[in-house]
Amino acid sequence: MKIIDLRSDTVTKPSEGMRAAMAAADVGDDVYGEDPTVNRLEARLAEMLGKEAAIYVATGTQSNLIGLMAHCERGDEYIVGQQAHTYKYEGGGAAVLGSIQPQPIDNEPDGTLDLSKVAAAVKPDDSHFARTRLLALENTLGGKVIPLAYIEEAEKLARSRGLGMHLDGARLFNAVVKLGVPVGGIARHFDTVSVCLSKGLGAPVGSVLVGSKVLVDRARRWRKVLGGGMRQAGLMAAAGLYALDHNIARLADDHANARALADALAGVDGVKIDPALVQTNMVFMAVAPHLAGPLREHLARHGMMISAAPTIRLVTHLDVNRADVMAFAQAVRDFFRESREASSRATALA
Ligand SMILES: *Cc1c(COP(=O)(O)O)cnc(C)c1O
Repeated sequence: MKIIDLRSDTVTKPSEGMRAAMAAADVGDDVYGEDPTVNRLEARLAEMLGKEAAIYVATGTQSNLIGLMAHCERGDEYIVGQQAHTYKYEGGGAAVLGSIQPQPIDNEPDGTLDLSKVAAAVKPDDSHFARTRLLALENTLGGKVIPLAYIEEAEKLARSRGLGMHLDGARLFNAVVKLGVPVGGIARHFDTVSVCLSKGLGAPVGSVLVGSKVLVDRARRWRKVLGGGMRQAGLMAAAGLYALDHNIARLADDHANARALADALAGVDGVKIDPALVQTNMVFMAVAPHLAGPLREHLARHGMMISAAPTIRLVTHLDVNRADVMAFAQAVRDFFRESREASSRATALA
């Protein structure tokens, strides 16, 4: 039985072609700057994003952290969304390890931050306050593409207040493919951009922080301090290069599969979903809280994996195809039909 795992786009396994590229990689000691494959990956992403430099790291969490630490010093502050990975899902790393205070602001339904709230959160130069240094955005956020016009306005505000701009672009290429713009068109508004290779791009490991030479040099120092200096990392970087060559344009398939999945689920009695909200590779469906656990168990018996929550995030990726998402929607439909039949039998017996 093929496992259909819709929990995340991190679950993808390296393809045969990717494994061959990894096996054939030229390597060296990257802490000495001597791994040719890592150097190629860094140069490639810097060029794609229109920046001076880049640094390869183990995870997106580390990439964001060294990015924040490159911008901010002890007692500084970054403005960030309540739902942002760099605030909510990184164990408080910026505060714990960087002595950097987050200033969270509620995300609007479209994933943006209200710029009047951002402006109001910038602190005056006064010893009572942390020094506001940075605006951190995320694109895509919850599968939503942050509009380019908004990013331009956000940058204007940040520059007028002397703030740096960091982008958590874990899924930046999903936004790029959705908008049909060159990646540099988004990246140019930011000083640093973190890109994950291990999400929809399908590499087993790795993220890259891209930015100016000054900021990336600082980030490189923090990577070493955090224990993230790797040696013959070209074995993994080769997977990243392979992903950039083969797996960007095909993200459009994931987006189309997500939309088809949402359309199919919209016809299921018992599922609450709005297919019009699907922009990239994420679908959110709500079910009655008491049925969330039983639904998950039913799907597991059919080799289908979802997260545990009443609002269920379903993520498409390169290891699920159109037939898989259709089979998944059918299994959800079967579950609700069976549970309705079981409850009407129970009513008849009572
Ligand atoms: C996955 C992800 C990260 C980084 O996660 P790691 O698991 O540390 O690689 C950062 N930001 C966002 C938005 C993510 O989805």
